Amino acid sequence: MSPLSTSAPDWRDIRVVVFDVDGTLYDQGPLRRQMAQEILLYCLARPWKMSLVRTIQEFRRIREQLAEEEADSILRAQFERPASRLGVSPAEVETVVEEWMFERPLRHLRACRYEGAAELFSRLKETGRTVAAFSDYPASRKLQALELETDLVVTAMDPEVDRFKPHPAGLLRVVELAGAEPAQVLLIGDRDERDGECARRAGCPCLLKVAGAPTGPGTFADYRQLLSSVGSRD
Ligand SMILES: [Mg+2]
Repeated sequence: MSPLSTSAPDWRDIRVVVFDVDGTLYDQGPLRRQMAQEILLYCLARPWKMSLVRTIQEFRRIREQLAEEEADSILRAQFERPASRLGVSPAEVETVVEEWMFERPLRHLRACRYEGAAELFSRLKETGRTVAAFSDYPASRKLQALELETDLVVTAMDPEVDRFKPHPAGLLRVVELAGAEPAQVLLIGDRDERDGECARRAGCPCLLKVAGAPTGPGTFADYRQLLSSVGSRD
């Protein structure tokens, strides 16, 4: 579906703004290049550790698959499925993922944060809105590293959610925790097939951050431009 299918929000109706994290609050391009370089240097010095590259690739691929299947029990499946394909234990997959996907990237995140994101957070709070994060990945440590503070964090791995986007369970959980109506909860994301579709299914408005020029009324390229459009609540 095209990003054009999302529509610009009427800010007067919006009480809660929920941000996707990866690719929405920070630029994934430089982070991925940084991590690829780090992995390369690590493996050059320790060629017997080279299998970690395939473990990460397989973990990522399986998560995309679980999202498309809208599978449940994802907390276990995300490690068990790649483990059985790689012929290792789920704990081994988890150890590699924890170190290389969750822990090591943290120190680079702040430098990759999008311009204007912190100012938008402040503006939203000043105008009495709840700021939330909703991610398919663990998000609290990332938000801390990004120096962005939210009122609420929901992830796909929370027991009450247990589904990846575009399943609407996580977003509906935010709606419930914030005590709002779906129409009052704006999701800001970066992938139409995940974030956009999730919002449509939950009945929430959505804005997509795109690279380059905005491609439709439901898209924006720069938080500083978005900031100027945020009005007060009714
Ligand atoms: Mg994203």
